[in-house]
Amino acid sequence: MNVPLLDLKRQYAQIEDEVKAAALEVFQEQQFILGSKVEDLEGRIAQYCQSRYAVGVSSGTDALLISLMAAGVGYEDLVITTPYTFFATAGTIARIGARPLFVDIERDTYNLDPERMREIVFRLKDPERKKLKAVIPVHLYGQCADMEPILEVAREFGLVVIEDAAQAIGAEYSFSDGTVRRAGSMGDYGCFSFFPSKNLGAFGDGGMVTTNDEDIYDRLRSLRIHGAKPKYYHKIIGGNFRLDALQAAILIVKLKYLDDWTARRQENAATYKRLFSEAGIEGLVTPTEKQKRHIYNQFVIRVEKERDELRNFLKDKGVGTEIYYPVPLHMQECFHYLGYRPQDFPVTLEASRTTLALPIFPELTNEEIEYIVEVIKKFFSG
Ligand SMILES: *Cc1c(COP(=O)(O)O)cnc(C)c1O
Repeated sequence: MNVPLLDLKRQYAQIEDEVKAAALEVFQEQQFILGSKVEDLEGRIAQYCQSRYAVGVSSGTDALLISLMAAGVGYEDLVITTPYTFFATAGTIARIGARPLFVDIERDTYNLDPERMREIVFRLKDPERKKLKAVIPVHLYGQCADMEPILEVAREFGLVVIEDAAQAIGAEYSFSDGTVRRAGSMGDYGCFSFFPSKNLGAFGDGGMVTTNDEDIYDRLRSLRIHGAKPKYYHKIIGGNFRLDALQAAILIVKLKYLDDWTARRQENAATYKRLFSEAGIEGLVTPTEKQKRHIYNQFVIRVEKERDELRNFLKDKGVGTEIYYPVPLHMQECFHYLGYRPQDFPVTLEASRTTLALPIFPELTNEEIEYIVEVIKKFFSG
């Protein structure tokens, strides 16, 4: 049996007619950049993510970049984030001339560890302390980082909070007072990606920034068009961070299905968990659902040993997998200048050597999941 990690063709088959009609409308209107389709999508995403405002941008990476710019983070500033994330999270910090200050992750969720963040922030002394401007928690694999204690430290030290919610649209977090909030609505900025492999994927690149603050909203809208306000008058320097009408039109169609697709991902995760627990494979750990609503952008298992051999075995049996992420960011060549050593973040290091993402897309069938678990069982029974 052949089971790819992700099969977008199955999803397209469900929505082909609607997508074609939406695209045709844009072709006929010949209004390609920003405009009413983008505004329509912004309103819907803001509502879906429980934020007051949303600004469509060119990618998830640019969502992070424009947020850092809007927050006034700049040369030699420090920004806390996790070394166990997609490159863009730290890449954007470095691109604006600031320095990523990495904090290790929790072993069960793979998200930024608030306790370690607190320790590191409290240990900082001036002038470093004064340079610390922001924190970017990442809601990895579709589950929210532990935001309550992160927000507490951020408030105490006046840090801007930029949520990297690229993998977590619609994920929820429950505060100790019972309040439930969606990913991207808890910090000052929420960054989303519409890269095709995300839960809400465009037919190309795209992204969104959410915020509850009107001043931030105005700044983002201006930065997106080179900082112009009004046109051809620039008080600040921005860039071309615009979203296409064509992507917006397609995303409006797809957003209607997002909750159904999320439910299917959650069902698939439950099926995997049941089958793995029945199989009782020693040293294999399935994802922890610690926060309220895990939307399973990825279903990532941990295996104590022979992860790479397992991956090859699955490949030979036709099953697509991926390692998110094989090289932690503090060990990337381009970040050697930061001076970190591999063992500075032992939990991250372990995760990079033991995790494996299995297919979880909504259209995956139970037969396929059963097959994948059978193959893994076979591998471990030697
Ligand atoms: C996908 C992703 C991004 C970047 O999004 P793009 O749209 O590909 O630029 C940023 N952070 C995380 C955690 C991501 O998964």
